[in-house]
Amino acid sequence: MTPPTVARSRPPDGASRPCRLPPGDGFIAGRQVAEAVAGVAAAFATGSPWRAWQRREALGQAATLVLQRADQLTELISAESSKTVREARAEVHRCAETLRLSAAEAAHLGGQTLPFDDTPRGTGRFGWSTREPVGVVAAITPFNDPLNLIAHKLGPALVAGNGVVLKPAEATPLTALALVEVLLDAGVPADRVAAVPGRGAEAGRALVSNPLVDLISFTGGFRTGDEIARTAGATRLLMELGGNCPVIVCADASRRDTAEAVVAGAFGVAGQNCLSVQRVYVHASRAEEFTAEVVARTRALVVGSKADPGTDVGPLINEGEATRVERWVDEARHHGATVHTGGRRDCAYYLPTVLTDVPPDIRVMTEEVFGPVVSIEPFEDIDHAVRRANDTAYGLQAGVFTRDIDAALDIAARLRVGAVMINDTSDFRIDAMPFGGPKRSGIGREGVRCAIEAMTEPKVVAVRRAAA
Ligand code: NAD
Repeated sequence: MTPPTVARSRPPDGASRPCRLPPGDGFIAGRQVAEAVAGVAAAFATGSPWRAWQRREALGQAATLVLQRADQLTELISAESSKTVREARAEVHRCAETLRLSAAEAAHLGGQTLPFDDTPRGTGRFGWSTREPVGVVAAITPFNDPLNLIAHKLGPALVAGNGVVLKPAEATPLTALALVEVLLDAGVPADRVAAVPGRGAEAGRALVSNPLVDLISFTGGFRTGDEIARTAGATRLLMELGGNCPVIVCADASRRDTAEAVVAGAFGVAGQNCLSVQRVYVHASRAEEFTAEVVARTRALVVGSKADPGTDVGPLINEGEATRVERWVDEARHHGATVHTGGRRDCAYYLPTVLTDVPPDIRVMTEEVFGPVVSIEPFEDIDHAVRRANDTAYGLQAGVFTRDIDAALDIAARLRVGAVMINDTSDFRIDAMPFGGPKRSGIGREGVRCAIEAMTEPKVVAVRRAAA
């Protein structure tokens, strides 16, 4: 059987030679990563020009192909990751949107004219700056949104004119390769993109330590990000790391709408989402009825096979992760937490779990759970709620539920996060918005336009007019 093509970068000798899956476990080794990076770097430096209009057309066509291949991509995502088919299909559509947005940005890769005559030294000169691609982008992605998070790196990097080497998560290489295939079929030159499915400790480390890499765009956990930063040294970094997202529910919030949104935000993708609702601070006057509504709705969720369109909550990515979540909930229980529903593991499944009475310094409160667990805590005054919401090493997104717009805007101004969703939970984004957060949630912002900004740099051209 012919092994599948996994990377089609042009090697340094200029010959067009696809890399092929090696025998063994199918993972790419460090040596092959170096070959892929060298190929992309050579094409970027000396390959044929790839104009902005060609980039726009290729990425627009890629968006169309993603929709045409939606069934196949949906199946792949659900088979490899832990998404249900419903969640996988939604991601396919998001991916097409991200590629469409990327294509549209080709028209805005402008620069600016520079006011040289604003200083005596500039007299007799005029000039401008353009946005230039940084060169070779190393894209490293996690398992939980295995298609769209890749599109968030490859779309902006390619439309800006860079070359990209992608290292997808160990668990989801085939989804990544299917997207690279879409890009190649859509007209992205084969020497501008390479995929190196491999282990983090080997292929990942080889990629981030390669001196030909100009920028590392990483999405994953904080500890991995920290390790990458140490390995990469003084290389440009764009990092989307974890979350531990809070939601504040004020006394005037609608019980049903709020509970419905909290349950969806906490248990979608079995909580394996950086935007998952993890901590809910609810006004004490409403805490009992709100908790009861959340618990009732959580019990009504269908936990089951990923392949069943009727399933609401599927498994975690593997049994090891489910066991970790079990340990963390047991720890909370041991320290006095009340488990209202869930609190039980079955192989790689962890039942959607609602906790109250969790001490503030326990891991389900302080760390990113990345599993189907939500903790509810009552508050008496809003200052306390804001303090508790901010009392975390992360700062990705937050939600606030209230009918009082002044209160909502005041809370939004005081939350130290990348985005605040008013009358919604933390678990909302559109692919065009700046995405990321302060503290341990990352470095810089993604979201198509922001990523392009990070993946380009200004270049000045100045003209000295000949003396008359
Ligand atoms: P992870 O950090 O374990 O792995 C992410 C990627 O890094 C994988 O491709 C992995 O192989 C690679 N990697 C691991 N060690 C490496 C090394 N030493 N050098 C280079 N690469 C290495 O994350 P995961 O478990 O796949 O995903 C879950 C995490 O991702 C969560 O923490 C979640 O919050 C985060 N995440 C963040 C966002 C965001 O936009 N903020 C979005 C999705 C997921």
